[in-house]
Amino acid sequence: MAKATTTIRQSLNYQSQHADYFAANHALFNRVVAFYVEVIQAHAKVLDLSTKEALTALETLTHATSKKQSPVVPLTEIAPDIPAYFRRAAINAAIGSARAFFSSLKKWRLRKEKHEARPARKGKKKPFTERPPVPPRTWNKSVPLYAGMWKERSGSSILLKVWTGTCWSWIKVCTLGRDVPDGFEMGSPTLVRKGQRWWLHTPIEKTFTAPQKIADQIITTETKICAIDLNLNEQLAVCTVQTVEGTILATRFIGGGREIAGFRKQLLGRIARNRSKTGIIAEGEQDNADLWRKIRNADEQIAHLVSTRIVQFAAEQGASILVFEHLGTLKPEKGKYSRRGNTKRAFWMKGRIFNFAKYQAWNRGIITSKVNPRNTSRACHRCHALIVRYAQGQPESGSTPGTPLCLCPDCHMRGNSDRHASLVIGQRLIARSQEPLKEKPPAPVRRAGRESKDSGVVLSQDAKREEKPPLSQARQGDGNGHGTAQGRRHRMGTPPPSIPTQLRLFSE
Ligand SMILES: [Zn+2]
Repeated sequence: MAKATTTIRQSLNYQSQHADYFAANHALFNRVVAFYVEVIQAHAKVLDLSTKEALTALETLTHATSKKQSPVVPLTEIAPDIPAYFRRAAINAAIGSARAFFSSLKKWRLRKEKHEARPARKGKKKPFTERPPVPPRTWNKSVPLYAGMWKERSGSSILLKVWTGTCWSWIKVCTLGRDVPDGFEMGSPTLVRKGQRWWLHTPIEKTFTAPQKIADQIITTETKICAIDLNLNEQLAVCTVQTVEGTILATRFIGGGREIAGFRKQLLGRIARNRSKTGIIAEGEQDNADLWRKIRNADEQIAHLVSTRIVQFAAEQGASILVFEHLGTLKPEKGKYSRRGNTKRAFWMKGRIFNFAKYQAWNRGIITSKVNPRNTSRACHRCHALIVRYAQGQPESGSTPGTPLCLCPDCHMRGNSDRHASLVIGQRLIARSQEPLKEKPPAPVRRAGRESKDSGVVLSQDAKREEKPPLSQARQGDGNGHGTAQGRRHRMGTPPPSIPTQLRLFSE
C-alpha cells in the first residue's frame, strides 16, 4: 500500500473580535508549551521514553486527578481548566521541540569531544569556539486542534473551542477554500496565523494500492506514457501521451514562458539598478527583499500551475507514467545581470516543475521517471537520424538549438521541435524498460557529439540501451497509424504553432 498525503488550507471567515480570541488562544498554547519544555528540562529522563509514555509521565507530573491530588509541578499555575486535548497537543509540541533541542545539544557535545580528543598541532591548540545550542526563548507554535477541540465540521463551517482570554468557548467560523476530497482521511486541523489572518490547515491522507513498477507496466499494451519536455522558452512544457506500442494519442503545449521571463527580467533589472545606486550590499542582509520575494512567488506560482496542468493532462488521458529528462547542468550564459539571472531562474523552475509534478502525480497513482537527455532534440523519433532544426522562413538546414521546427532529412518527418523532443523522451523510457539488456548498435546521432539543446548533459548509460529499428518497419507504420490529437488551446499561452500530423512510432 502507498500513502498520499497533502494539506488542505482553508482561510477563515470570522467576526472581528474572534481574531483576538485566536490570538489569546495562540498565546496561551505557547505559554503551556514553554511550561512543558521547562518541565522536560527539569526531568530530562522523560525523553528516554516513547512519546506516548512521555506524555503520560508529563501528565502525571503536572495534572491533578482524583487519585493524585497534588502534582509536582501543577499546570494550574499557568491557567486553570485547560481542556485535556489542548494540554496534550501542547505536551506533544513540547516533546517534539525538546527532542530536537537535546539532539542538537548531543551533536554539539560530540563535536566538542572530537575537537578535544584531536592532538594539538605545532604545540598550540585552538580552543573549541562553537557555541552550544540554546533552547528557544520564545515560542510561536500554531495550535493543533485535537478531537474534542473542534466539532460539526461541514464543507463551509466548523466550530472551534478556543480560549478567548477569559474563558473557553465554542465559536463558529466559516471556512473558505476546497473541502476535504473524497477518500481521504483527515488529521487534526491546525489554526495558523498568516499575516493578519487566521487559517485552518488540515493534513489529509489516503492509502491506495501502490502503482506497479514501470518495468511491469510497460509489458501491458494498455499502458500509456505521458512524456514531458521542459523548456526555457515560451512553451514551458510540452507533453505527449503515447502507448507502449508507440501510438501517439495526444499533445499539449503549456505556455507562459515569455510572460514569466519578461516579468522576472524586469525585476532583476530593477534590482541591478538599485544595487548600482547604493554601491554596497550589507553582509548577511537581503537587499531588495520585496523584489526578490516577488520573483520567488511568481516562479513558485508558475511552477505549481504548470505541474498541475501536466498531471491533469496525464490523468485525463489515462496515462500511468510520467517521464521527464534529467535536467543536466546549466550552461552559464553571457550578458547582463538580469539576463544571466533570468536564465538561471528559468532553469531552476524546470526542477521545481518536476518536483511538484512528481508529488502530485503520486497522489493520483501515477509514477514519475527520468531518462537521459542526450540528443533528445537532435535524433529523429522515427528513424533516429540527425534532424535539422530551423525557424519559420529560414533555410531548412543545419541545426540551430532552440529553433521551433524540425525536419528529418531521412524519413521526412516534420514537426515542432519541443513536441518532437517529448516523443523521444517517451520512447527512451519504453526502449529502456523493454530491452534493458540489448546493446545499442552504432547510431548516426553519435556523430553529433555530446551536447544537448540548452544545457550540458548528464551522461548515463540510458542512451546505450536504445535500439535502432529497421527503417523499413518504421516507414511501414506510416500508412495505418493514428493521427495526432492536437492538444487543446491553453489559457496560459499562445496556441502552439501548426504541427504536421505525426504517425506511428518505431517500436511496434
Ligand atoms: Zn527520421
